[in-house]
Amino acid sequence: MAQAGAFQQLWSAIADIGRDTATGGYRRFAWTEPDLRMREWFTGECAARALDLIEDRMGNQWAWWGDPDTAASGGIVTGSHLDSVPDGGAFDGPLGVVSALAAIDQLRADGFQPRRPIGVVNFVDEEGARFGVSCIGSRVITGALNPDRARAMRDADGVTMAEAIRRAGRQPDHLGADPETLGRIGVFVELHIEQGRGLIDLGRAVAVGNRLWAHGRWRIEIPGEANHAGTTRLSDRRDAMIGCARAVLVTRAAAEAHGSLATVGKISIQPGGVNAVARSATAWLDARADGEQALRATVAQIEDEVASSGAVVTEESRTPQTAFDDALVTRLASLLDGAPVMSTGAGHDAGILSNAGARAAMIFVRNPTGVSHSPAEWAEPEDCLAGVAALTTVLADLSGSEP
Ligand SMILES: [Zn+2]
Repeated sequence: MAQAGAFQQLWSAIADIGRDTATGGYRRFAWTEPDLRMREWFTGECAARALDLIEDRMGNQWAWWGDPDTAASGGIVTGSHLDSVPDGGAFDGPLGVVSALAAIDQLRADGFQPRRPIGVVNFVDEEGARFGVSCIGSRVITGALNPDRARAMRDADGVTMAEAIRRAGRQPDHLGADPETLGRIGVFVELHIEQGRGLIDLGRAVAVGNRLWAHGRWRIEIPGEANHAGTTRLSDRRDAMIGCARAVLVTRAAAEAHGSLATVGKISIQPGGVNAVARSATAWLDARADGEQALRATVAQIEDEVASSGAVVTEESRTPQTAFDDALVTRLASLLDGAPVMSTGAGHDAGILSNAGARAAMIFVRNPTGVSHSPAEWAEPEDCLAGVAALTTVLADLSGSEP
């Protein structure tokens, strides 16, 4: 089947970029060499299709079939991101970009002529793996993230985002809100690997996403007092590690109490010696809930309970509950043979755009492991093709007529 071969060809061209040979996971962090290679690959594939590539004020790449500036109500945009979490899977992000290119190939093979322009986007730094805040690309252009704050963010080595962009041979000065770019988006449909087990039980290859949960990241700083592990009596200790352990357990209990999800996936202990009582600890909290109220209650309970260890909780980023465009969701579900409609606890650029007023929705492709942000993330080849077929149908419908 020609389409299967074409998809596979696109897919295998990026299979080795940023891949850790020991774990099989990907390390494609924003503005690092693997990320730049992914951007180059995208540029090449767009050129091969004679798509017009435009970079916005944050470096997000937009490739257009047709001129979005002559379309009164903007174009039909799809795509996703090409960066990864540490040891990420192959599908989170790239599946949306590769499927978009494959869908355009299919439309052209069918002789389709879009009445509205079609765009494919590669959002920069979606995962926030390097600077700690997710969806930087869409947050900056929508004005949800101040450009000065973005430029000053530091990675684990202390490199600021401004410096990282400079080292990548680019200019950080013009970062900022970009209404011109946003004005070109009439509709945004992001195709993404499902990051849970919803589609397995339903026996369907694709679903339509209608809602993103409220979510955010908080930093919990736990004070202590450094001392000798061999001579300090237990009763005399102020051990930050104990407070840190308590914070982890309290996080789990708060999530259970409020039907939310809350995770401590990263901690830093000072001074970090085997024979030293910890002087301080920092734990990073990721919390998500289907509803603002449940999220607030979860974080408030954690704050309350860690206060007994003298800990201070600081919000690092927060994204409100996002409901995608109702009419668009209904339309996609009916176009896709009554595809199931589902919400997710994962954040996406589609959510940031939607919160900024864009008409948006998502398509999820079945993940038989249910695992994501791990090398175990997977989609069967026939499900990837079902995703391409779904996207092709959607793009044809939305670009062929006024929605
Ligand atoms: Zn993603």
